[in-house]
Amino acid sequence: MTVQGAYGYELTQVGAPLHLAELPALEPGADEVIVKVAACGVCHTDVGFAFDGVPTRHELPLVLGHEITGYVVAAGEQAQRWQGQAVIVPAVIACGKCPACTAGRPTICRKQFMPGNDGNGGYASHVRVPARGLCAVPQPLPAGVSLEALSVVADAVTTPFEAIRRSGLKAGEVAVIVGAGGIGGFGVQIAAAVGAKVIAIDVDNERLELAQQHGASLTLNPHRCDEKELRRDVRGFAGQFGAPGSTLKIFEMSGTADGQWTAFNLLDFGAYLAIVGYTPKKIEVRLSNLMAFDATAQGNWGCPAEQYPNALELVLAGKIAIEPFIERHLLEEVPEIMKGVAGHAFRRRVVLVPNGHD
Ligand SMILES: [Zn+2]
Ligand SMILES: [Zn+2]
Repeated sequence: MTVQGAYGYELTQVGAPLHLAELPALEPGADEVIVKVAACGVCHTDVGFAFDGVPTRHELPLVLGHEITGYVVAAGEQAQRWQGQAVIVPAVIACGKCPACTAGRPTICRKQFMPGNDGNGGYASHVRVPARGLCAVPQPLPAGVSLEALSVVADAVTTPFEAIRRSGLKAGEVAVIVGAGGIGGFGVQIAAAVGAKVIAIDVDNERLELAQQHGASLTLNPHRCDEKELRRDVRGFAGQFGAPGSTLKIFEMSGTADGQWTAFNLLDFGAYLAIVGYTPKKIEVRLSNLMAFDATAQGNWGCPAEQYPNALELVLAGKIAIEPFIERHLLEEVPEIMKGVAGHAFRRRVVLVPNGHD
């Protein structure tokens, strides 16, 4: 029942390299499991914790990482059915009991558990997590899909999935994805899977090319044109392809101030704006445009666990490709990797695989 010899990479102090630590023996509580980590994705939120002084809810030292897949190697009394199962661990695990949870709003649960924030996370050989909300991964997986690659479903796929689900985006409508990187690359594919006509906007032409290969009908680089041209191109496309009566749905997935500014300035009559990416920076906008355009702005903190199987289904059905958008590195390289991610040295999302994982 107890797992000995587990290790993880801890944040001990903001700005210091992550530190390899032996973890104490891991024993699951009655409703918990121990997951042997197959892979853990690196999210910009982790960079915020490690370098920018964004406080973790659990005190330091803390093992970071909240994009986890692996195998359940130990399970508590009430979690026995998970024993041996391949799983995706949701980035945000709601308590299931509080007023927010019982009202059907698990993403605003104040007793939620986020690995690598409320407790040790997935930059580790093993992690202890609540069993509720785990997403079972069928075995064997279809050709071209691996449990390591599925780690990004824990956050980078499910967060845009939930944003698009909440928007009510339908086939024939026009979706604008601002930022076609670590989150937006999946956002483009999810919107295309819904049947929407997708416009991808990014300052990086290679990302735009990839977006075009994976479902974007129009790609635009705001560094190549001014604000008015960008708006004209988007409206022109929407006028050509938008289903009668449907309006623009804009998804900010870059998590940058520039991206947010671009997204806000694309607002039009009846438009819907979803803020999916995070930046601590502020921008100045004329908020009254929401009123003048009868527009809607919406955010989402992660994705309810109950939606994970639906997002996973899109991947397993081949509607979301993961491999072209990720690169694998050894977990043991994480102290260096974090610096690279902070410095935007990786174009693809980094997935960490523990040495000796099988
Ligand atoms: Zn994240
Ligand atoms: Zn709750």
